[in-house]
Amino acid sequence: MPKKILWIRNALWLKTGLSRNTKALFKEWYGKYEIVHLCQGVIEGDPKIDMYPWKSLAAISSNPQEQDRYQQDPHYSRIAAYGAIRLESAIKEHEPDIVCISDDLWAAPLDYYTNKEWSKEVNLISHITFDSLGLLPESFELAKNCHTYSWSPFGEKALKDGLEKKQIKTDYNIGTIPAAIEVDKYEPISSVEKNELRKKFGIPKDDILVNFVGRNQLRKKFDTLIKALSSYKKQYSDGKRVRLAIHTSWTEGWPLTRLIKESGLEMSDILTTYVCKNCKEFEIKPYNGEEQNCRFCGGEKCQDSASITNGVSDDEMKYIYGINDCALSVYTSGGFEYHCAESLLNGLPLATIGYSCGSTYLECPQVSEIKYVETSECNSGFIKAEPSVQDCVKFMRKIEQMSESKRKEIGKKGRDWAIKKFDSKVVADQWMNIFDNMPEVDYSKVEFGDNKKLNPSFIPDISLDGESFIKSLYSGFLDAQYPDEQGMRHWTDRLSNGESKNQIISIFQQIASEDTEIKEVNFEHSLLNNGKEDLFFIIKESLGDCIICLSLLQSCRNSYPNHNINIVTESKYFEVFKGCIFVDNIIEFNPMLEHEMYVIGAGKEKGLGVFVMPAVGTQKHLNYLSNNQPEMLVKPKSKIKKIN
Ligand SMILES: [Zn+2]
Repeated sequence: MPKKILWIRNALWLKTGLSRNTKALFKEWYGKYEIVHLCQGVIEGDPKIDMYPWKSLAAISSNPQEQDRYQQDPHYSRIAAYGAIRLESAIKEHEPDIVCISDDLWAAPLDYYTNKEWSKEVNLISHITFDSLGLLPESFELAKNCHTYSWSPFGEKALKDGLEKKQIKTDYNIGTIPAAIEVDKYEPISSVEKNELRKKFGIPKDDILVNFVGRNQLRKKFDTLIKALSSYKKQYSDGKRVRLAIHTSWTEGWPLTRLIKESGLEMSDILTTYVCKNCKEFEIKPYNGEEQNCRFCGGEKCQDSASITNGVSDDEMKYIYGINDCALSVYTSGGFEYHCAESLLNGLPLATIGYSCGSTYLECPQVSEIKYVETSECNSGFIKAEPSVQDCVKFMRKIEQMSESKRKEIGKKGRDWAIKKFDSKVVADQWMNIFDNMPEVDYSKVEFGDNKKLNPSFIPDISLDGESFIKSLYSGFLDAQYPDEQGMRHWTDRLSNGESKNQIISIFQQIASEDTEIKEVNFEHSLLNNGKEDLFFIIKESLGDCIICLSLLQSCRNSYPNHNINIVTESKYFEVFKGCIFVDNIIEFNPMLEHEMYVIGAGKEKGLGVFVMPAVGTQKHLNYLSNNQPEMLVKPKSKIKKIN
């Protein structure tokens, strides 16, 4: 029997480095293992999920009550998108031998991974992009409780050093596994192809193009690239024209257009990749806004800068690299930095920093070093790198002065080095060694007793303030010992913006009690199951409302003569409906039945039945209080009471 692997990672159709890693590995493992992919960020019912030969599961529920909770609780919503909420049910259903989360640290919340009853029984692996010194305490907690691999030796060393310093012992493996790359997709293009591409895009043959490919986000130092080119032009007016060629989305992160103009550069000094949404052809040219007309298919406003949803296909990325003369990769920190590996595989001379995963690339003798100074980041306290602009200028000059044959020679050696390290066959083997040495899991011994104790009756200590107060709510109501940063910030912000502690307490209370109720949903036994369709008449409460509603039942029967009419109400009002000839069945109220989408079965194969909820406008959402009663309108007060 092949071992079964549950792999948690984002959807394969996204154009991110991390999903390319998963895809490359799955191709190698397919047939050797049984693969189940829990796709982060994907909502149940997305048809794209069925296009792969292995089993794919969606991380986000389409259940309306769950959707409600996502909206109420940002912490919950984030960890749901990361797959944490559905992890346990996926393990229960598929019984994998190995469970591996391959992501950043915050995608593996300890409450949902290492602190579960099953955590010690299944072979749990975390593959984490530890990229900055000053590792968070959760990193060590993770390494203490499951096999932990870093994407680069830098992270492995930081983890081991930290464990030793804190005198934490672990019985689990700690190591490094780099990203897997399908190396045959990346190869230097020929000089003829390069010249033809340049001709196609009107780029002079002699221009020196400095390449960068990456998300437009804070840690990628686009500002350094732009400053370096500006400084280069001031220092060297002789020689060939040096230009940047950046493959990124111009609508995220860094305000590139403004940075370019402020640095004194021309827009034409920087080339970028446009991709047509219609014909998928790419074009490399100076940036001139989004929604450009496509000269290939003639479409209007269909060309945008490359992004993770509208990108160049994996097979064509070699041209994006190949049109360039070198690659320059500067960042504050990085777990793997695909750009470095891919530029080497495409035979480009590369320069990068020696911090974070950059230290791996500098082991290759052909890679040039960009020095950096250390800075510390606000909030996280992580150590980050600030790369030297002048070193970038020096590298540009070195490449500009270098002969083409020398560049090719450097490129070839760099490529050979990268193939040995990152070829998906090599990396997949590293993983398989680990998998094959792990014991099979005997699921008759695995327990799933939900050890998260939601406690709606928890009594918080309101003398606590700020973060400690919010932390106490997470742990008291939701049994979440490690709430994530965004969730914490959301609630502390609400607190400091004047929302009262009692109000926030009542929201947590509600979340805790809703969660308890989800587990109790099971109506099958309360239905008549007599072969007829069901109608649900939902009237949760109040004696008066129930009595008034009796008058509506005859018309329900007239409209649905062949349906069972099920009254859904609190048990104390059952008496009101007993004996009524238009009522076939009475069911105890459950909040799930207040959701029309749930009752009619939106997104499912079959719904429960017809939905009638007469009290929407009176109990559920008030909408009549101020009718003909102008005194209900709240007037501005002369003095606003200060909330402490
Ligand atoms: Zn087009």
